[in-house]
Amino acid sequence: MTTDAVPPEPTTSLTVAIVGGGASGTLTAINLLRRGASVTLFESRGEAGYGVAYSTTDGRHLLNVRANNMSGFPDDRDDLLDWAATSGVELGPTDFLPRRDYSRYLRDRFAQAAEAGPGTLETVGETVIDVEPIGPGFRVLTSDDDEGHAADAVVLAYGNPPPQPLAGLPEAPWNLSDPWDVARISALPEDATVLVVGTGLTAIDTTVTLLDDSPARRVIMVSRHGLVPSPHVDDQFTSWVTPVPDGPLTADGVAALVRAQIEHATGLGVDWRAVIDGLRGPTQSIWRRLPELERRRFRDLYAREWEVRRHRMAPRIAALLKAYQAEGRLKVLGGGVLGCRTDAAERPVVSLADGDHEVTAVINCTGPSPDITRTDNPLLLALQKRGLIAPDPLRLGIDVTEDGHVIGADGRVVPDLLTVGPPCKGALYEATAIPEIRNQAAAVAAHLTPE
Ligand SMILES: Cc1cc2nc3c(=O)[nH]c(=O)nc-3n(C[C@H](O)[C@H](O)[C@H](O)COP(=O)(O)OP(=O)(O)OC[C@H]3O[C@@H](n4cnc5c(N)ncnc54)[C@H](O)[C@@H]3O)c2cc1C
Repeated sequence: MTTDAVPPEPTTSLTVAIVGGGASGTLTAINLLRRGASVTLFESRGEAGYGVAYSTTDGRHLLNVRANNMSGFPDDRDDLLDWAATSGVELGPTDFLPRRDYSRYLRDRFAQAAEAGPGTLETVGETVIDVEPIGPGFRVLTSDDDEGHAADAVVLAYGNPPPQPLAGLPEAPWNLSDPWDVARISALPEDATVLVVGTGLTAIDTTVTLLDDSPARRVIMVSRHGLVPSPHVDDQFTSWVTPVPDGPLTADGVAALVRAQIEHATGLGVDWRAVIDGLRGPTQSIWRRLPELERRRFRDLYAREWEVRRHRMAPRIAALLKAYQAEGRLKVLGGGVLGCRTDAAERPVVSLADGDHEVTAVINCTGPSPDITRTDNPLLLALQKRGLIAPDPLRLGIDVTEDGHVIGADGRVVPDLLTVGPPCKGALYEATAIPEIRNQAAAVAAHLTPE
């Protein structure tokens, strides 16, 4: 399926293919269109501006970042609020917008950029299965088209890969692998007992979808650690600055620094969240200064503690969870899934830390699986075969430079092949949310279309 849009003459002859039309690809496209490039955007779902995060149809799934930090553009921090004001959406700076409305914002800005130009846009609703270097430039091949699309540069914005299947569980109708299939999850029986594997923000969204409408349902959320994200608080002090020392950094040193700052802040009556949020800006540079061994140590020892503080849920959602727990409809457990069998009626029985539970369904909310050496994604397999991409040492994404240039298997930058968003996690650590993605999208577009 190919839909052409857009009028005015481009001011540059550069043709850029963007693979993926989630938030990363859409924001990169908008920046490039504004700078005059000819953009071909490939999106398997057919339409750009949704991606995994913003395709939910459930209005109770909220952004986990306040509206005043969710503009898509680093040079226009009020853009989301301005859009809301002119789009009939009631939104204050510290509100948490429903994610499906954030998709509307992305799609509106995308359509406006396509119409205003000066760049030109072609959207291709097909899945890219290979990118072939052809001297200068590339040919982008899709599953529906043998000839391919020529491009001077390619931006990989393939985003969040699906989770690994749950180990030890058979493929079965009750084993649901897609936590974003709201229709299927909502259609589970009104009195279902559901095992949600994972205790992060996706697990929480799924739990709200399951429990909010159906008072007779029960949910057991389980993960190895059993930790759920902390809630945001209202009226939070926002400008805490942590002095990061010069010189070599270690994982233990960074963890100690964060703890000491939290203690110091608490002593002054300032909530710990201010310290975590104040570290958001320097996170990428701290990560880059950690040698590989120290990054591994941080991942193994401290990442979990950081993640549950850093990725927070809206206060309204935290209140819902508390109420479900008080009603006995939600249980949160650590220890993981210890085993699974089916009873005589083929119903699943799962072994958890507190014993065996007969459940109606199991939903995999373990989160994206970024390790490209374990993927069955045809594009990532083809790019690895060509040596165009390689895993980063911690297998958090692909090997890239700090500014998103892809590094091939030979350790050299692949000219004109760039990436934005989650694939950069190994290089930047903080790379998967809008406050970082908007910077990357703008920087990649500026690099490709220098003034
Ligand atoms: C549930 C959830 C909630 C989140 N909430 C927030 C939030 O509140 N605030 C925040 O800042 N961040 C949030 N995030 C972080 C989120 O990852 C980013 O905000 C952002 O959505 C990432 O966008 P992306 O385009 O990189 O990835 P994705 O959303 O994964 O989109 C990638 C797109 O590429 C397409 N694609 C992939 N491969 C191909 C191919 N070969 N050919 C064609 N198309 C392809 C996919 O179909 C998909 O649409 C959330 C993430 C999740 C998962």
